[in-house]
Amino acid sequence: MEKRELLYEGKAKKVFATDDENVLLVDYKDDATAFNGLKKGTIAGKGEINNRVTNFMMKLLEKEGVKTHYVEELSNRETLVKRVSIVPLEVIIRNISAGSFAKRYGTEEGIVFDEPTIEFSYKNDDLGDPLINAYHAIALKLATKEEIEKIKAMAFKVNDVMKEFFAGIGIDLVDFKLEFGRLSDGEIVLADEISPDTCRFWDSKTHEKLDKDRFRRDLGNVEDAYNEMMKRIFSK
Ligand code: UDP
Repeated sequence: MEKRELLYEGKAKKVFATDDENVLLVDYKDDATAFNGLKKGTIAGKGEINNRVTNFMMKLLEKEGVKTHYVEELSNRETLVKRVSIVPLEVIIRNISAGSFAKRYGTEEGIVFDEPTIEFSYKNDDLGDPLINAYHAIALKLATKEEIEKIKAMAFKVNDVMKEFFAGIGIDLVDFKLEFGRLSDGEIVLADEISPDTCRFWDSKTHEKLDKDRFRRDLGNVEDAYNEMMKRIFSK
């Protein structure tokens, strides 16, 4: 597969065309941003870790019956994926209170929920990705009712698979963000990435944060945390 022109450059990834119109090439960068781009930096080795961790998770999920955009890992930073049109929703699943949930409802972090929660944000940088409910998403024609139902079921399935996997390597899966896309025939598949940039990972015993919160909150040892997650995941 040949790498062709740059189609899009985002905060953490570049996307290139290939000689197959249905396949794109994703190239992961070390650049890190937080707070809607207000905080900028780099995390050495992040691109490689996020690429390899994402592909590991996508393969695991496919094995468990979740359809994804994953095609093939080309190198430490580059992966082929199916071309999708992204549903402009960030889908967030939570198992434990943290981040914007704790802030919005004035609770502490670390409350373990009896049932996982789901919420959506409207992917719109100008508006700062506002929280949106399913009715509003349908009214704005961001997705159909059927697509929302499909996305919910897939997101909870992803949570079941990932929670169990991470428990096996001594990690509490606190929360994470997913994105979904439509293939050319309209089928909904899991897209984007699953990495320490998009998940909160806490060590089950020490509760140490092993994810992007180390960068967002200036906790130090950012690279160590990403490396530790990669090491544990690939020990399996
Ligand atoms: N998240 C993400 N991208 C975003 C917003 C959130 O990947 O633009 C992830 C984040 O890493 C965390 C989960 O979604 O694992 C929930 O994030 P939250 O809503 O608590 O927002 P935050 O506190 O990160 O602003």
